[in-house]
Amino acid sequence: MIQALMNQMGVAPAQYQNGTLAVHSPIDGSLLGKVAQHSQADVDVQIEQAQQAFTQWRNVPAPRRGELVRLLGNILREHKQALGELVSWEAGKITQEGLGEVQEMIDICDFAVGLSRQLYGLTIASERPGHHMRESWHPLGVVGVISAFNFPVAVWSWNTALALVCGNAVIWKPSEKTPLTALACQALFEQAVQQFGADAPPHLSQVLVGDAAIGDQLVCDARVPLISATGSTRMGKIVAPKVAERFGKCILELGGNNAMILAPSADLDLAVRGILFSAVGTAGQRCTSLRRLIAHESVQAEVLEKLKKAYQSVAIGNPLQGNLVGPLIDRHSFEQMQAMLQKARDAGGQVFGGERVLAAEYPDAYYVQPAIVQMSSQNTVVQTETFAPILYVLSYRDFDEALAMQNDVPQGLSSCIFTNDIREAEQFLSASGSDCGIANVNIGTSGAEIGGAFGGEKETGGGRESGSDAWKAYMRRQTNTVNYSRELPLAQGINFS
Ligand code: NAD
Repeated sequence: MIQALMNQMGVAPAQYQNGTLAVHSPIDGSLLGKVAQHSQADVDVQIEQAQQAFTQWRNVPAPRRGELVRLLGNILREHKQALGELVSWEAGKITQEGLGEVQEMIDICDFAVGLSRQLYGLTIASERPGHHMRESWHPLGVVGVISAFNFPVAVWSWNTALALVCGNAVIWKPSEKTPLTALACQALFEQAVQQFGADAPPHLSQVLVGDAAIGDQLVCDARVPLISATGSTRMGKIVAPKVAERFGKCILELGGNNAMILAPSADLDLAVRGILFSAVGTAGQRCTSLRRLIAHESVQAEVLEKLKKAYQSVAIGNPLQGNLVGPLIDRHSFEQMQAMLQKARDAGGQVFGGERVLAAEYPDAYYVQPAIVQMSSQNTVVQTETFAPILYVLSYRDFDEALAMQNDVPQGLSSCIFTNDIREAEQFLSASGSDCGIANVNIGTSGAEIGGAFGGEKETGGGRESGSDAWKAYMRRQTNTVNYSRELPLAQGINFS
């Protein structure tokens, strides 16, 4: 099966059958491939090659650069089914989510093509006669992309589509848990380059297969002016100071601990649907997964009852067979979930679900019943991101208390409120409301569209990717002053003669 998918996308068997990095499917634990890992010397060569590619690519007009991304988008359309299925095999996502992830890649390509004609600067009024000022945006250089296992392909495309139209070269260090999808993306990218023709230099986008040590080399190299790193806060705390030390730039997309405030006026049936998708979708392994439900005390019992019913009926199993909840990525993830549930019990939490299921059918894979944990207060267990389907349920009496609870975690990625009270909704979105990068009304915390800037505050890292003006992080800003007079007046009226 894997061979057929890889063939379709143009990846040669030698690339994933003879290496030292074994790739196992979270679906059933089967061996999907063995991928060669890059050495430290390879990293050095790739950075050198990327720099050379950059010096050519930055001079190609931006709308022409957009044409390469347009071709990539078309190739992704042709291979949506195969790449989506490979995402399911390698990351354990259900079919719909695998396809959705590839659709996100197509969407960001479309966005970037339009953007390639809109890398706008400014004209600025000068205080000096016979002068004008402007602000220009120029290509930045080599962009290092480090990505997590749970969005194995979309994160690359969010970064790469923008980086390419902005005139940069890219080196991608995917998660060591998902190198096959990275090889497939690389093969599809190379097809786009072939169709594009000679304007595209070789090595415009490259893949580095390896673990944190390989990522670290990219992070520490001053020839890589921008590191876009997606993953845990633990990783970001190591990466950020190293990039800062060499005055590089970072886009950090780190952990979340996302909450929903459920107000007394909310449409409960709508809310339950929103909770279910956000909390159990991707088996709780999205950075935007709903992890905390802060329900008004008047509706808590009712929503809990509805939720428990919904949780019991959700289909758990092989993600390629129409189920809604697939497996956890690996045994380690399962063990972490169990350890956190135990800590929650020790802290007085009432745990519903959370146990392993389908162990007899899939002894080498980890499927779990998503958990609901009723907690009396927001302690450190609740404040910690556990990358698994655990939903902590808390209650509140007045709205300010709910807002304070929503903000009282170290992370600041996504948040939402379900309410039909316009004052509450607007307060939630105001300066004194949610402190997250994403704040929604009557929609769950997960499932963002690419048109908006994506990212969060505090320990989520502060980076923004994807839509809006996120492209500016991939370029360098230059302020220009031009004198078209025959005098040389100084700013601030300074007389120097
Ligand atoms: P992880 O931090 O274990 O790994 C992420 C990537 O970082 C991998 O490619 C890994 O090899 C690399 N890495 C780890 N340590 C490194 C180091 N010291 N130097 C350089 N590279 C290093 O994360 P994971 O388990 O793959 O993914 C889950 C985490 O990612 C969760 O915390 C989740 O919230 C977060 N995430 C965030 C976003 C977002 O956009 N905010 C998106 C997806 C995932």
